[in-house]
Amino acid sequence: MIWTVILTAVVFMTLSVEHLAPEWIFYAVCIALLYMLIYIFARQFHSKIKAPQWGLIIATACVVPQMVVHPLIQALMTDEEYTGGQVMGISFMVCSATVLLILVISSLIFKKKRPKMRKKIVAGNWKMNTLPAEGVELAKNVAADRASVCECVNFIVCPPFTHLSQVVETLKGTDIKVGAQNCAAEAKGAYTGEVAASMIAALGCEYVILGHSERRQYYGETSQTLNKKMEQAYANNLVPIYCVGENLEEREAGNHFAVCKAQIEEVVFNLTEEQFRKLVIAYEPVWAIGTGKTATADQAQEIHAYIREVLRSKFGAAAEECPILYGGSCKPSNAAEIFAKADVDGGLIGGAALKAEDFLGIGKGF
Ligand code: PEP
Repeated sequence: MIWTVILTAVVFMTLSVEHLAPEWIFYAVCIALLYMLIYIFARQFHSKIKAPQWGLIIATACVVPQMVVHPLIQALMTDEEYTGGQVMGISFMVCSATVLLILVISSLIFKKKRPKMRKKIVAGNWKMNTLPAEGVELAKNVAADRASVCECVNFIVCPPFTHLSQVVETLKGTDIKVGAQNCAAEAKGAYTGEVAASMIAALGCEYVILGHSERRQYYGETSQTLNKKMEQAYANNLVPIYCVGENLEEREAGNHFAVCKAQIEEVVFNLTEEQFRKLVIAYEPVWAIGTGKTATADQAQEIHAYIREVLRSKFGAAAEECPILYGGSCKPSNAAEIFAKADVDGGLIGGAALKAEDFLGIGKGF
C-alpha cells in the first residue's frame, strides 16, 4: 500500500507541476478516487500481485495519459475552452477508467478460472474443553443448524478422547465428521496414557490433528515423533490435519517462511503422493492462537501461497488440491475476509468452535 501511495504521489506531482490551474484540485481529487478504486479492485481480486507491482501499474496509468491521451485530447480541444489542467485531468481520468475496466474484466475472468476445486473445510479443535454431556450438546447444536450453511462446506469437530465415541454417535446421519486431537506414535503396547490411531479409527473418527503448536510446545513433539504419528494415521485410514506455524519471535525475525518450510519438509515430504493427496494442512501462527490477534487476510494468503509453493516443489500439481486451513483467532467476523483469499481453504478453529453459532457462523464465511 505504502509503495502505491508513494509512487502515485511522486508521479502525480511530477506531472502536475506545470499545470497548477485552479481546476487542479478538483481533478486531483477525482483521480485520487479513481486510483483508490483501482487499488481496492486490485487487492481484492488480484491478490498474487504485490504492492510494488500495483505501484508500477498505477504509475503507468499516470504516465500513459501524458504520453498518448494527453496530446490527443489537447488536439481535440481549443485553448480558449479548456485549460491545461482540465486536459490533464480528463486524460488522466480516461486512462484510469480504462485501467479500472481492464482490472474488473480480468478479475472476473481470473475469479472464474481460479482453481477452487479444493475442499472447503471448517474444523473445530475443542482442545481440553467440554465434559462428555456438554460435548454431546455442542455437537447436537452444530448438527441442528448445520443446514443454515452451504453444503459445500465440510465441517469436522475434534472433541477430547473421552467423548469421541458419544459425539460420533450424536452426529451419525449428518455430514459432520469427527476427528481426534492427537494419536500415539506407536501402534499398540506398553505406552501408558496413549491412544492409538487404530482405537480412534475404531470409534468412527475420520480425522486426526497432528503437530498442533500446543503439542509441539508443551509435549515436546518433534518432526521425528510426527513422522511416526503420520504413519499410524495413514495406516488406520485417518486423514491427518497437519499443523505448521511460527511463533511471535520467529515472525518478528522474518523467519516464518523458513519455519513453515522446515516443518513441511521434515514431515510432509516423507509421504507418498497417494498419502499426500489425502492430507489437510493447517497454518496456525502461534502468536494468533487463542490470543485474539489474527493474521491479516493478506498475511494469511502470503504464507498459504508460500506453503503451496513448497508443496508444489515436491508433489507438483497435487499441491493444487491440498486444502490449507488457517487457524488463529478465526471468528465469524473475520472468516469471510480470510476465506476469500485464493489459497485459504477454510479454518482450524479453537475458541470459536465451542459455540455452535460461532462455529457455523465461520462456515458462512465462504
Ligand atoms: C487452534 O488452537 O487450533 C486455534 C486456532 O485456536 P483459536 O481459534 O482459539 O485461536
